[in-house]
Formats: sequence, C-alpha cells, structure tokens
Amino acid sequence: MSSCVIHYGEAAAQIAAYAARLAANPMSEPMRRKPATEHVDLSRAQGRVLAQPLCADRDLPPFARSTRDGFASRALDVNAHTPLPIAGATQAGDAPAGPLPAGTAWEIMTGAPVPVGADAVVMVEHVEVADGRVRLLPPRTVAAGENIVAQGAEARRGAELLPFGSQIGSAQIAVAAGCGYSQLEVFVRPRIAILATGDELVPVETTPGPGQIRNSNSPMLAAMVAAAGGEPWTLPVAADDSAALDALLEQARAADMLLISGGVSAGKFDLVEPALARAGARFHFTGVLMQPGKPVVFGDLDSADGSDQAANRTHVPFFGLPGNPVSSAVTFLLFAAPLIAALAQHPHIAPRFAQARLAADVKQKPGLTRFLPASCNFDDSPVVALVPWQGSGDLAAMARSNCFLVLPEQTQQIKAGETVHVLLL
Ligand code: AMP
Ligand code: MG
Repeated sequence: MSSCVIHYGEAAAQIAAYAARLAANPMSEPMRRKPATEHVDLSRAQGRVLAQPLCADRDLPPFARSTRDGFASRALDVNAHTPLPIAGATQAGDAPAGPLPAGTAWEIMTGAPVPVGADAVVMVEHVEVADGRVRLLPPRTVAAGENIVAQGAEARRGAELLPFGSQIGSAQIAVAAGCGYSQLEVFVRPRIAILATGDELVPVETTPGPGQIRNSNSPMLAAMVAAAGGEPWTLPVAADDSAALDALLEQARAADMLLISGGVSAGKFDLVEPALARAGARFHFTGVLMQPGKPVVFGDLDSADGSDQAANRTHVPFFGLPGNPVSSAVTFLLFAAPLIAALAQHPHIAPRFAQARLAADVKQKPGLTRFLPASCNFDDSPVVALVPWQGSGDLAAMARSNCFLVLPEQTQQIKAGETVHVLLL
C-alpha cells in the first residue's frame, strides 16, 4: 500500500471538493444514496435541515400591530393644544376595533390590533391623560405610521419564509411556530459508524486493569457526530487483531460514513490501513503534515451490498483518526465534520474558524501546520491563549480549551497582539 502524505492545505482542499460532490445534487450524484426525509416535532427540530419550504399561513403580522403601549389616533388629529377624547381601548388578544371616530384617540397596548382608521400610535410616555382625554406633550410630534407595523409588512400570506435546505435553529423554530407548523419535514441524519480500536481499551463502566485505559474516543466522537448533524452509531471496540477488524469493517459498511479511531500510526499493531485495503478501500490520503493528527487517513469503501437502504449508494467515506484524543478531535473537526455536514444537507459545510489576537508570543519549528489547544474569550475583541498541555493524549487540557490555535506550516514565530486564526470546537 503506497503512502500519500500531503500538506494540510491540500488535504483541506480535497475534503472541500469531496464534500461539494456529496452535497451537490444528491439525486443524480452516483456517489451517494438519495437522502430520505422524515417528520419531526418542532421541539426536536433544532440543528436539522428543512426538506420542505416553510411558508406564511397568513399575513405577518396578521393585523396592523401596535409596537407600543399608548394611544392610537389619526396623526393629523394629534397635537399639544387639543386634548382628544379616549373613545375606547384594545389590549393584546382583542379583535381589531374600529372604525375610530373622527377626532378621538384609542387606548392601545403593545401587540394589540390598531383600530381601523388610526394611522399612528403615540407612546404613553409622550402624552398627558386627564378627564378621559389625552394630549400630546411638547415637544413631541407624531407622524403617520409611527409605532405601527402594517398588516403583511413582514410577509404576505403564502410567502416563502425559509427555503428548502435551511438549517433549523431557534429563530427558524420561532418562524415555524408562528406559522402553525407543529412538525417539520427534515432530512434523515446520515448514520456515522464509530469504530474504536485498541487492545488497551475498556468500556467507561469498567475499572481499567494494569496498562488499560477507558475508551474515551467513542463517546467524544459520538458527541461530535451529533453536533455536526449526523446520527452516531457506536460499534463494539475492535481488538488489535486482523480478523476482528475485518468483521467490524464489514458491519460498518452499512453506515453512510465510517470513523475509525486508533491503529493508523506506524506501530506494529496499527492494523487499520491493511484491514481497509483488504476491504477494497480507495485511499485519498494516508497522512497530513500537521500536528496533532499527522497519521490521519481518508478514503472510501464501496457500500454494503444487498441492503435496500443502500440501494443507490456506492461510496462510504471513511477516516482513520489517530487514537490520541486531541488528534482525533482536531482531525474530526477539520476533515470528518465537513463531510457529515454535506451528507446531512447542511448549507454550511466548512470547518468553523475565527480570528483573535494572540495573548503571548508563540514559537514553533516550521514544517507542520499546528492546531494547539487554546482558550479564547470571544468577546468583542477576542484574545486567544494557549492552554498548557502534555501532548495529544492530554484529555484534561482539551477539556480546558474551547478552540485550537492555528499555526501555519511555515510560521516560526507569532508575536503577542498579532491576529491569528482559531479552529472552533
Ligand atoms: P493509536 O493511534 O492506536 O496508536 O493510539 C494512540 C494513543 O491513543 C495511545 O496512547 C492509545 O492508547 C490512545 N487511544 C487509542 N484509542 C483510544 C480511545 N478510543 N480512547 C482513548 N484513548 C485512545
Ligand atoms: Mg492503537
């Protein structure tokens, strides 16, 4: 098996191109199956992707709405000299009143329908009320349209508010609720197999024996898969044994994508690449000039045969993620998350980077792009500081971080105060 170790920039470009092919017109693209859809309750729609457009079921707002507590009137009738008699009152929830008698004012609350005939609302703070009459307090003036949102000004009945393919967050849930959608048609999440490998691994509930450690990558990757828009499918841990790996890889082919953790370095028991090769894998890269994560492997397998679910599917992308937890996390964010987002039909598939100012000087030996655990305050002038760590096995340091500081390959030194990029967790 030939090795193919590439620069980070090339790996990122390959992933972006692959993700674009997965995302582009999935119906005609032979690389993948047609994405299925399902209906979910609004309360469970957060993070999903709309497989229907969302339209206004009536005008928004459905009636001319007062945006203030105050008095509705005709703007031309209102002045500081002539107190207007108060002809009635409307509170939020009341049906629209009116028509407003000429030369009168109408008491109104925020969110209430403005009576027919009124064209402005004067804020309660800007008037004086005495003997059932209301008078504008100088130097205030009132213009037509003030403090009123006209019926349909936000959207007309039937207008498309969210297109097919929108990602659903809290604002989109509010729009759906406002328009009477208690359920939404969304894309079924891609099923992402997670296969941890290693003779040293024991389950979380088990007390490790001498030389053993708990499998922390499977739960971490399951959480990352869910955050990226996939449905995690955690397989049993594979021992460092060819037959065990072959059997689990065969199962994993039924997934939409496969994440393997561990067993991709150059050690004697790093058996994952040979097992993938036996399974017929096409390798796109088998290492990236980066730290952590240098041994990361990317390729694809033919999908499982014979299953109905896999009818049109031909490619199952896979990643061999280095077993060290920080390496697994970084390579997942940079390479696996974009493909999951593409499979999930997410509109935004690239890894998320931000800019910040560096808190203290950083030096490095050039030659590898580095992604170092860091903590950024993310206020209006973000500052990022490295988190001290003991290398890519340091779970505790990763848990104290909220991003990774990016040090480009040829950089030798960056001074405090310079602008840098961070990869968001
Ligand atoms: P490997 O990539 O298999 O050579 O593993 C590199 C390091 O990561 C070793 O110290 C492993 O014990 C550790 N490691 C591998 N898999 C896991 C896992 N699932 N959870 C936690 N640590 C792991
Ligand atoms: Mg291992």
